[in-house]
Amino acid sequence: LLLLGIETTCDETAAAVVRRRADGSGEIVSNVVLSQIDEHAAYGGVVPEIAARAHVEVTDRVIDEALKAAGIELRQLDGIAAAGGPGLIGGVIVGLTTAKALALATGKPLIAVNHLEAHALTARLTDGVGFPYLLLLVSGGHTQLVCVSGVGAYRRLGGTIDDAIGEAFDKTAKMLGLPYPGGPEVEKAAERGDATRFALPRPLMGRHEPDFSLSGLKTAVRLEALKIAPLSEQDVCDLCASFQAAIVDIVADRVRAAMRVMREIGQKPTALVLAGGVGANQAVRRMLHKVAAEGGTRLAVPPPALCTDNGAMIAWAGAERLALGERDGLDIPPRARWPLNEATLAAQTAPA
Ligand code: ATP
Ligand code: FE
Ligand code: MG
Repeated sequence: LLLLGIETTCDETAAAVVRRRADGSGEIVSNVVLSQIDEHAAYGGVVPEIAARAHVEVTDRVIDEALKAAGIELRQLDGIAAAGGPGLIGGVIVGLTTAKALALATGKPLIAVNHLEAHALTARLTDGVGFPYLLLLVSGGHTQLVCVSGVGAYRRLGGTIDDAIGEAFDKTAKMLGLPYPGGPEVEKAAERGDATRFALPRPLMGRHEPDFSLSGLKTAVRLEALKIAPLSEQDVCDLCASFQAAIVDIVADRVRAAMRVMREIGQKPTALVLAGGVGANQAVRRMLHKVAAEGGTRLAVPPPALCTDNGAMIAWAGAERLALGERDGLDIPPRARWPLNEATLAAQTAPA
């Protein structure tokens, strides 16, 4: 199956062509990502109106580039996938409507993909991971631990009760005067910092349920920064290192808790899968390699460019669904809110 995938839920306009073979393996044929970071940087975060307008301006061109780079014509495709949510509604409308128009014009099946499901399934494309697996989804808007037992079978084991981890990175960066997006900046600064200089809290550590809480940690960073202001470059590096060390400890402990829950519900994971933008963080990856090995499994994590938003993950999730006979009607609505556990298969939700 050859799928086009379109991603426009946040601040990246992306399109890709992906092939899925009958044996379940896959291949990225082309992958074009146009980031709007420069347009939002001045505001220190994504401005929905600017994002929607930018998607309108470049989506057609990004799709053309993805098809051209793949050497593929529209008529050679087996399906057209777009992220149908969750995300900033203006952007979702642009990508999904474009996909509908292409599906209508070509007669190809349309697949409206849940953006979180696309993050969740990427490791099957890059690492051939089998079901069930334990998924840690950590991005700008989400922090969840999920038992994935099939396409469309997502059981949430725990998640954040306040901020997402990516959001905590971004807010910490902003507080310390680092540019947006903050994750990579904090990671870079942390490499030159002393992680033991500030004793920061690790909320919810030790708790049985695999939940997260990040807002207290963020506040603690702010209070420490106020105490020693004005901040030298070394102060910023030390705060970043101490913050990142706390995140790594929290993530390790919460993943261990989720592994215990997996055992309790009788699921033996084939892998621990790390997905979402924070998955690009090397310190988090290093720790999770250890945690996975301790738990008798392995860590599977897509390369950084496939952890952050991209079209290949949308095309791949579309292909996984199409292979199961799933497709959507042209009347499917764009969704700002669409929890992962509601991304089921039509066969499961259709009335008997
Ligand atoms: P969502 O997928 O929840 O809708 P999103 O699409 O904005 O949100 P992604 O693009 O998957 O999220 O990830 C972006 C987030 O990942 C940002 O918060 C960014 O700071 C964070 N991030 C990216 N690289 C790193 C890194 N090296 N270390 C820590 N965080 C990072
Ligand atoms: Fe994302
Ligand atoms: Mg993004």
